[in-house]
Amino acid sequence: MRSSKKYDYIVIGGGIVGLSTALKLQEANKKILILEKESGVGLHQSGRNSGVLHSGIYYKPDSFKSNLCIRGRELMLEFLELNNIPYRLEGKIVVDENIQKIESLFERSKLLAMSGVQVLEKDALIDKEPNSKILQGLFVPQAGVVDYKIVTEMMVDIFRNKGGDVEYFQEIVNITENNDSKLVSSKKETFTGDFLINCAGLFSDKVAKLDGLNPKVKIIPFRGEYYEIINKKSHLLNNMIYPIADPELPFLGIHLTKTVDGRIEAGPNAVLAFSREGYSWTKFNLFETLETITYKGMVKLGRKYFKTGIDEMYRSLNKAAFVQEVKKLLPGIESEDLVQRPAGVRAQAVSDDGSLLDDFLFEEGYKSLHVLNAPSPAATASLAIGEYIASKVLN
Ligand SMILES: Cc1cc2nc3c(=O)[nH]c(=O)nc-3n(C[C@H](O)[C@H](O)[C@H](O)COP(=O)(O)OP(=O)(O)OC[C@H]3O[C@@H](n4cnc5c(N)ncnc54)[C@H](O)[C@@H]3O)c2cc1C
Repeated sequence: MRSSKKYDYIVIGGGIVGLSTALKLQEANKKILILEKESGVGLHQSGRNSGVLHSGIYYKPDSFKSNLCIRGRELMLEFLELNNIPYRLEGKIVVDENIQKIESLFERSKLLAMSGVQVLEKDALIDKEPNSKILQGLFVPQAGVVDYKIVTEMMVDIFRNKGGDVEYFQEIVNITENNDSKLVSSKKETFTGDFLINCAGLFSDKVAKLDGLNPKVKIIPFRGEYYEIINKKSHLLNNMIYPIADPELPFLGIHLTKTVDGRIEAGPNAVLAFSREGYSWTKFNLFETLETITYKGMVKLGRKYFKTGIDEMYRSLNKAAFVQEVKKLLPGIESEDLVQRPAGVRAQAVSDDGSLLDDFLFEEGYKSLHVLNAPSPAATASLAIGEYIASKVLN
């Protein structure tokens, strides 16, 4: 069946990146359609993450990640205020045993003109996090927390109220052209637009292929599992404690976060998922697993980080090992104080040479633009990503 309406822009994916892009394009009075395969918005990465509003301190200055995170945080805070969405902005403590790493991050905060960042030791740390075990850290007041699922729900309401169309249960399986228009089809229906924007997250490389591109990266799904601290221990943290990320494996390192509704979460780890939406060990897709493990980039990555991968799996399958990691930051925690909460799966682009793509990646096609890598902090940065995409495609 062919829909009779014609759109200026068709956006595939009702995650936070697709929604932010659609909202920005709407400001230019364009007719926009969002196509989403699920029954609602924010049901994958955008609704299954740590909920952190990142400060931007971690990322290589002048990269997409750095610039879009800093701008995106600003836009996100305005959006949250304007729409009365609850959030907290009480900062985080970034920790490492190596004081030089902390100091070099401090220097970067100066380059980024971030105010109020402080190196903390002993008493000053005890003041902020009296129950933690850490001896030195960097306090970054710009970090906060929010529930991004609520943000996506607000975004879609605004989009619809302004006349935008959203079609759920439309998994896109084919993309062609006709008379200079893009024809975008699910198994049920075909939609017509002048321009296509692919924000399909865990399936963005596949959608790009449907559009005739041959991306030099593949999306590899890495599950991030979390525990919630319960019982009497659920008050032991005031804000957030984050180990400094390894630049080669930026998503590694369990952190502690006090969520916007006051729960304390520990995680995420990073284990190879056996399907693109593999939220647990039992969610197994033979075709997707074979595709992942036979990809030459994954073979190289696996060789390079074999031990790290095994350690992560071990911690995933062995709660006691996970507890040990948490205890390094918060010693009072025992196994019975932790219960599992739903996991998320990261869409991580890996290139043929086995490197994990660190920066956001966009690629243009014929009358199309594809978001091929939007890992953390893309939720924080989403409104700036939308602004960037809109400025590109409107020109
Ligand atoms: C465990 C974890 C923790 C994270 N923590 C943070 C954090 O604290 N702070 C932060 O800023 N970022 C964080 N991130 C990153 C952030 O959540 C993501 O970068 C962001 O949500 C990506 O949004 P997206 O719209 O690109 O993807 P998604 O939210 O995954 O949306 C893509 C959408 O496309 C749809 N789709 C896919 N294929 C098709 C198709 N063929 N047809 C139609 N629809 C399709 C999917 O159903 C989905 O709804 C985290 C991510 C994970 C996984």
